[in-house]
Amino acid sequence: MNLAVPKEVHPGEVRVALIPEHVAKLAKAGADVAIESGLGQTLRIADEKYTEAGASVVANHNQLIQNADAVLRIRKPLAEEVALMKPGCIYISLLDPFNERELIDMFVTKNISAISMEMIPRITRAQKMDVLSSQANLAGYVAVILAAERLDKILPMMMTPAGTISPARVFIIGVGVAGLQAIATAKRLGARVEAFDTRPVVEEQVKSLGARFVKIDLGETGQTKDGYAKALTEEQLQKQREGMAKVCALSDIVITTAQLFGRKAPLIVTGKMVRGMSQGSVIVDLAVEGGGNVAGSQIGKEIDVDGVRIIGLSNLPGRVTVHASQMFSSNLYNLVEEFWDAEDKRFDLNFEDEIVKGCVITHQGEIVNEMIAKHYGA
Ligand code: NAD
Repeated sequence: MNLAVPKEVHPGEVRVALIPEHVAKLAKAGADVAIESGLGQTLRIADEKYTEAGASVVANHNQLIQNADAVLRIRKPLAEEVALMKPGCIYISLLDPFNERELIDMFVTKNISAISMEMIPRITRAQKMDVLSSQANLAGYVAVILAAERLDKILPMMMTPAGTISPARVFIIGVGVAGLQAIATAKRLGARVEAFDTRPVVEEQVKSLGARFVKIDLGETGQTKDGYAKALTEEQLQKQREGMAKVCALSDIVITTAQLFGRKAPLIVTGKMVRGMSQGSVIVDLAVEGGGNVAGSQIGKEIDVDGVRIIGLSNLPGRVTVHASQMFSSNLYNLVEEFWDAEDKRFDLNFEDEIVKGCVITHQGEIVNEMIAKHYGA
């Protein structure tokens, strides 16, 4: 089976879907791996390293896609790339399937089996394939490093002959994978950290990292069976904002990571709350690509609102691209390996399996994923 890894075409995408370490493992399992020449450039990995690992290197992007039985990628394909694929080809990457109706229709028409890495179910067996977690973990780390660099203060407390400096205050809103890593990173840098999440189970995790959990009584909140937050009512959101305004006003750094699976992110930090913060403070909106938690945050931009810097830069994991690629590649390899038929040497979509049922969006000219079919009323 021919597994192809073309270069990314999404502007600014510097991560690489497959690194030589995992090419070697796939080649050993009998896969015929082909990569596009220059694939590893952003990681300073030369084509020869891929050749040594057992891949063939193809210079022609279109030809590579045309010959593929399966394509492994970080991001979704362009329409012209889908047009090149063989019917029955498997395309595996992040696909943002709740917002990509046209792309999904194209996969259906072209009879492509599309696998969305976001839709890998949250079960123990699939943790090793979970790119949302592996990338969110890094995003949480980068958000703190970025904010610390932009802040014109230090984070730790310092007692010096020239006086005592109190620790910076960091407030993390949304404590999933990214939020937990942001807390841990800010703590390591010596900040005083507070955090809030609507899922009550998070309180213990926040405390175990040495941060303070901000208590706001919102009534019934809870989480889905997959561990995701449930959407709040407008009244609950309003209560949350009121409860947080004071904490934001006292914080030097606010990092928001609040997401709702398959839905728009909730607006948590309003314009009034931003203006209530001290001049020079910094907000990082990690949910900016999902609709944004912060009023005024803009995708890919850093803006100044009355002296408060709002950072909406996208693809934060791409800023630590070596480790982001290493983890993404490992997640992809683990997925392929799990469903690799060693005898026939092919990736076998076993629809009896919970993971396959969860992440395959289209197959044999149909939307086969229940959640996505329901979302589009198909
Ligand atoms: P996410 O990216 O969907 O959301 C980030 C956080 O925002 C979540 O903690 C969510 O509760 C929170 N949030 C949503 N609305 C909010 C609001 N109005 N105010 C404040 N916070 C709000 O979530 P995630 O990081 O992917 O993880 C969610 C949970 O799933 C975590 O507990 C994580 O440990 C768990 N998880 C389990 C597995 C598994 O395989 N079992 C894998 C990954 C994650």
